[in-house]
Amino acid sequence: MAEPGYKDIEQLMNDDFSLLRKQADQVCREHYGNKVFLRGLIEFSNYCDMDCLYCGLRRSNKHVQRYRLEVPDILSIVKKGYNAHMRTFVLQSGEDPSYGINKLCELIKKIKIETNDEAAVTLSCGIRTKEEYKILKKAGADRYLIRFETSDSLLHVYLRNGITLKRRLQAIDDLKSCDFEIGSGFMVGLPGETKATMIRNALLCKELDLDMIGIGPFIPHHLTPLKYSVQSPIEQTLRLVSIIRLLLPEANIPATTSMGTLDPYGREKALQAGANVLMPNITPASYKKSYLLYPGKICLEENGFECINYLDPKIKSVGKEISFDIGYSKHFIKKGVYNAAKNERLETRNN
Ligand code: SAH
Ligand code: SF4
Repeated sequence: MAEPGYKDIEQLMNDDFSLLRKQADQVCREHYGNKVFLRGLIEFSNYCDMDCLYCGLRRSNKHVQRYRLEVPDILSIVKKGYNAHMRTFVLQSGEDPSYGINKLCELIKKIKIETNDEAAVTLSCGIRTKEEYKILKKAGADRYLIRFETSDSLLHVYLRNGITLKRRLQAIDDLKSCDFEIGSGFMVGLPGETKATMIRNALLCKELDLDMIGIGPFIPHHLTPLKYSVQSPIEQTLRLVSIIRLLLPEANIPATTSMGTLDPYGREKALQAGANVLMPNITPASYKKSYLLYPGKICLEENGFECINYLDPKIKSVGKEISFDIGYSKHFIKKGVYNAAKNERLETRNN
């Protein structure tokens, strides 16, 4: 779509969804065929210094049993994932300063060795300084996920308990300048949002020229100040997945766990509406149940890799198939940053 404006997105928000979905599905298949990239998600620490009003891991929630996985524990999960043919690992945590930069770098370097440099490392650990992002990139991290959550600056500062949208966007800018493949996105249906917010959220994804866009429904958590919020219907998220696919045809778009939590067929529906990525949670079952950003998360009982077997028929049911490819975003490759970043890493290693 060439230079879409507010009115264009508004139109798409009102269009017949079955047509919009088909169009987005077609665009997705044009760029990614019937492939669904798999990412192994490892929730390595649920300690968080932040107090986001929407999140079950917020520091004021004293009912969370906090844990932090050590480097050898994470490496053993990665090894299993690598043997199961996974070629991307997403390391997610709260904003945990105790997981310092040196420890993260050690982890990244060891993952690269463990996977014969065949796997991508994606980080999702919140806001850090530009200097730290630079060091993480140099250590071998490839990608970074950091949602802007909502484009409404007043709502943002309220829901993130004092942290501004400007600061979040600064982090995205910093990551870009360090040549990360960059993913961002938003939650759908946060309290206080209107249709106009959702339109602006979609436009901001385009403006940020993202390589990956993760969106998912906001699901109220009973141990947060937002416990009495109204749940937005899954259809709203699915519609936004389709709109984002049309706005950024070559981006990677995951069918997120929160979609599967809200609707048992949520992820399949997303894969039919323009999504092309799945992120099975390979965190050991004993820790998964303590990483509840929102309640009711699926696959809590499965011990990580069983999720893959469970996902296979789901993916086939929508006429797609699992791809164990490293799964770069075509959008990222086209920007030319990919080759520059790869060469820089090889140079660093050879010196
Ligand atoms: N601490 C990091 C990464 C972990 S949180 C960060 O905040 O970036 C990962 C994502 O979980 C957040 O970006 C947010 O969009 C999502 N999330 C948090 N609480 C949620 C809720 N109640 N419902 C749905 N998604 C939620
Ligand atoms: Fe921490 Fe992320 Fe949850 Fe905010 S959303 S409280 S930063 S884990």
